[in-house]
Amino acid sequence: MTSQKTETIIEGKTKILVFRKKTSKKGPGTKDSLPFYNPSMELNRDLSIFMVQFLVNNSKKHVDILDGLSASGIRGIRFANEIKGDFDVTVNDWSKDAYDLIIKNLKQHDLKNVVATNKNLNVLLSENRFDYIDIDPFGSPVGFVDSAMRSIKNGGVVACTATDTATLCGVYPRVCWRRYGAMPFHSPVMKEIGMRILLGFICREAGKYDRGIEPLICYSTDHYFRVYVRVQKGVKHANNSMKNLSYIRSDDLIFSKNNNVDIGPLWIENLQDKKVIQEVRTILFEKELGTKHDLWKLLDILEEESDGPRFFYTTGDLASIWKCSPPKTKKIFEKLNKKGYKVCRTHFNPTGFKTDAPLKEIEKIFKN
Ligand code: SAM
Repeated sequence: MTSQKTETIIEGKTKILVFRKKTSKKGPGTKDSLPFYNPSMELNRDLSIFMVQFLVNNSKKHVDILDGLSASGIRGIRFANEIKGDFDVTVNDWSKDAYDLIIKNLKQHDLKNVVATNKNLNVLLSENRFDYIDIDPFGSPVGFVDSAMRSIKNGGVVACTATDTATLCGVYPRVCWRRYGAMPFHSPVMKEIGMRILLGFICREAGKYDRGIEPLICYSTDHYFRVYVRVQKGVKHANNSMKNLSYIRSDDLIFSKNNNVDIGPLWIENLQDKKVIQEVRTILFEKELGTKHDLWKLLDILEEESDGPRFFYTTGDLASIWKCSPPKTKKIFEKLNKKGYKVCRTHFNPTGFKTDAPLKEIEKIFKN
């Protein structure tokens, strides 16, 4: 084991030994030889606790959970310690330092339902089948999605983090094309496009094995994308979800400066399942966690936008296109609602809004 010192932290209701960086400014997405604890991913881990609790609550049988890229073991050990029901957890990392730390952590807890493995995740997924697979890599998850789709049981959930946000948001279009097989578009709506590209990729990986996907909860932050998808077996499910893939044209987006650019292929259907969000919020209501307030706010806005149309406008971008000052968001909502249009906030941008109103109607509000 490395000579780097560990320290004990508490996240959720679980004590964990971690390697902590003293002075790093690096965000998630950065590579290190040691499995460092990343406090900025607490909300990401907290939400996964609720998603797994939701899955266990809704399953009539024993549930097999995998924390596939576990580092200190924090996520998987938290699953075992904080979730109630009939399930067990495999906590895996291929790094020897990480595995040793996981074993040390397990010794501190009297948990009957956890095993630790020290394997390449793709090998582990080829040998076993799971109801929930968590893929939380440095960078892109693309190298693990194929084997996750073969391993996941019917009706199971695959959770993926992607920290290669610059690639998915169009800063490196050629990398995105290579990695995800899709063209991104750097624009005010780049995060939503990036999320839809990630889902489109996962849908195609599932389709190869006659499986279809249903997004349950998907969100983005400054540092990462996170998607939870349910996977259903069968040609019908696969074909139905492949119908949700399409290209869009950049000139369909008001922010586009270049004409005739194809964006995608990307997932064009819903990003959220409203019922799942509502159920997860009920579970969250009963729990005490460090990120409870932020998670509540996030789920609130995801629930709101689950009925909204694709893509959004930002008040600042519209104001600069129409060369006027932006009206208050409240005013825009009031006026559009009064005219019978749908309008909602979006978590992708604090000044963004989604609406089915034609642009002409929005322009009138801005120019009055
Ligand atoms: N999920 C952790 C958490 O919430 O703290 C963070 C995981 S960290 C971002 C990624 C981990 O994946 C590293 O510890 C690394 O050793 C491990 N890893 C990378 N490639 C792997 C592979 N092919 N198989 C198994 N583990 C791998």
